[in-house]
Amino acid sequence: MAGKYILARCSCGFATGGIIGKRVSCRRCGSNKNMVTESTYETGRELASSIKIANMPQQLRSEFYERIKKNKSYSSHKENIEPSKTFTKAITEITDINSEISMGDLEIYFDKYGHTKQDLLHCVGVAEIEGILTRTGPESWIVLDF
Ligand SMILES: [Zn+2]
Repeated sequence: MAGKYILARCSCGFATGGIIGKRVSCRRCGSNKNMVTESTYETGRELASSIKIANMPQQLRSEFYERIKKNKSYSSHKENIEPSKTFTKAITEITDINSEISMGDLEIYFDKYGHTKQDLLHCVGVAEIEGILTRTGPESWIVLDF
C-alpha cells in the first residue's frame, strides 16, 4: 500500500520530501523538472527520517544503517574489565624492586581502568586474606606470593 508521503530525488542528487499529488521542488537547487519518486511513506515522521538518511553521503549512510542494526547488542560489547584482573595486572606491573606496593600507585592504576576506590579496597582485602599482600604500613604492602 502506497503512503501519502513521497521521497523524491532530484537530478542534482538531493532528496526532498513531499505529499503525493503535489508538485515537489528540490530544496537544494529549486528545480521541479527532474524529481523522481524514490519511495513512499505512511507518516510524515517516517518520511522525515528517510530524507535525513537519503541526503547523507554514501559512506555515512551505510555506517548509519550498520549502527541501527547493531543498536540492540551495542552496550553488551562495551569493554568491561573486572577489578580483580586489573588488580593482578597492577601487582605485576607496579610492584617495585623491593616487592612493595603503595595505595597511591594502586589508586592511580585503578582509576586509569575506570574502577572505583571501593573496588580497589575490596581487591586489597581479598589479597591480604589470600596471603598475596602483607601490610607494611597504613597504605603500603609487600607482595608476598604471586
Ligand atoms: Zn536539485
